[in-house]
Amino acid sequence: MHLSREAIVEGLQRIVGPQDVVTDEAVLRESSVDNFRKLENIFGVHTLPMPAAVVMARTTQEVAEVLTFADEHGINVVPRTGHTATEGGLETVVADSIVLDGSAMNQILSLDAYNMQATCQCGVPLQVLEDRAREQGLTTGHSPQSKPVAHMGGLVATRSIGQFSTLYGGIEDMVVGLEAVFPGGIVTRIKNVPRRAAGPDIRHVVVGNEGALCYITEVTVKLFPYLPQNNTFLGYTLDGMKAGFEVLREVMTGGYRPSVARVYDPGDAGLHFSHFAEAGECVLLFMAEGPAGIARATAEGIEAILAGHRECRRVDSEFIATWFNDLCWGPDKIAQEDERIRQTRNVNRTTEISANWSAINDIYESALRRIVAEIPDITMAGGHSSHSYINGTNMYFNYFYNVVDCGPEEEVTKYYLPIIRIICEETLRFGGSIVHHHGVGKARTPWIKDEYQSSYFILETLKTAFDPHGIMNKGTIFPT
Ligand SMILES: Cc1cc2nc3c(=O)[nH]c(=O)nc-3n(C[C@H](O)[C@H](O)[C@H](O)COP(=O)(O)OP(=O)(O)OC[C@H]3O[C@@H](n4cnc5c(N)ncnc54)[C@H](O)[C@@H]3O)c2cc1C
Repeated sequence: MHLSREAIVEGLQRIVGPQDVVTDEAVLRESSVDNFRKLENIFGVHTLPMPAAVVMARTTQEVAEVLTFADEHGINVVPRTGHTATEGGLETVVADSIVLDGSAMNQILSLDAYNMQATCQCGVPLQVLEDRAREQGLTTGHSPQSKPVAHMGGLVATRSIGQFSTLYGGIEDMVVGLEAVFPGGIVTRIKNVPRRAAGPDIRHVVVGNEGALCYITEVTVKLFPYLPQNNTFLGYTLDGMKAGFEVLREVMTGGYRPSVARVYDPGDAGLHFSHFAEAGECVLLFMAEGPAGIARATAEGIEAILAGHRECRRVDSEFIATWFNDLCWGPDKIAQEDERIRQTRNVNRTTEISANWSAINDIYESALRRIVAEIPDITMAGGHSSHSYINGTNMYFNYFYNVVDCGPEEEVTKYYLPIIRIICEETLRFGGSIVHHHGVGKARTPWIKDEYQSSYFILETLKTAFDPHGIMNKGTIFPT
């Protein structure tokens, strides 16, 4: 039976208590969007349906009861933890949705230095876990730019990746086990073991589900030794991205595992490295880490490869070390960026994709060519590759435009979505993947069937099996 907003709020209050059901209008407006429509929050113009309430869950049992209630009454649920999503995954596209917020489930349950794994609730900020690990000489190895603000549940739900991924992998390589709640209130735990081959690896039904299948309440991740004293930085300038991709490929296929391996195109390099890179130059950089012998051998191996590339000019490693120390975005930096947008109406957006070595340069060149030719008011279009693998790499398109002759609420349809369309089309044309780490959200669902092609059958079957009434985060990953 369809419930009124008042009845939904009353039902939720019965489950978690009135103090944990937020119905304040300003909070609801802000909770109807994420960074995909961040101009709506910055300029205070809201266009999406309002949720009925934000529910602050404190236990797995409460999550289970809310999902049971929502399933019984067909109410859309948007899971949330850190609220840093960039692709519309937190948008409430249905009126009177429930935003189920796990940020109060913020306990580190164990930090097991013997078995090298930590278990925490979904609302633990990664920074808090990382700081705790470092007190014991350990690290999670996970360092997305949103580390100070993103929480463990959301990081697992989006298949996030960090700056040191080339050594430690993405979150999918770090998650050992987890607890999740499915519609109907079914609580399920996947145990913590070093490997399993008892059938398919069901962790991956949960990791990356973006709140469209289940609610993650607890995660266990691996820990690694933290040895910052051995960090070694290498930096170079060069004249073209194609050559940069080639060097990355040579390093990766040569068997080296630097923690950071990146190449920036001239536009993007101009934003970060103008103190040493000339206009028009690309920047290539590496960081080697680990036990002293491994860090040294990795750096020496990369230097030997670069010695064979006379087009690459070595720069002072200090430049790279300084850049590296200021990579993360905490609340202050985010607020400053919002203020810059408010004052200038110049917006910075990013879109990340991946492809094999043989395709990445074609995608980079053709997408950028089209963005500049087809989209008005662009003030910068560029990007970098920041996560490499033995068989390919990612491209992180980074672009700015002025919002001209339209309201802030039209920015997404006039500029952002047309750019995403170009990037998705070019990526698919050359056989790449349209999402490397920010999630599909609602922004890239129009291309999801083209992404999966015949394997969409498997994905779609997960949705119908685990969320038969379609209450989980409508419009995210799965087109409505
Ligand atoms: C400044 C900035 C820098 C960023 N840098 C990076 C980066 O380097 N690497 C990277 O990968 N991403 C990055 N992101 C994107 C974002 O931080 C990640 O997607 C992050 O994983 C989201 O975590 P969160 O806790 O904020 O999740 P939220 O924003 O709360 O939610 C994200 C998605 O996951 C779902 N979700 C949240 N919690 C749960 C849960 N408990 N169970 C099930 N589903 C859930 C939501 O419904 C939503 O679809 C960045 C974002 C910003 C704003």
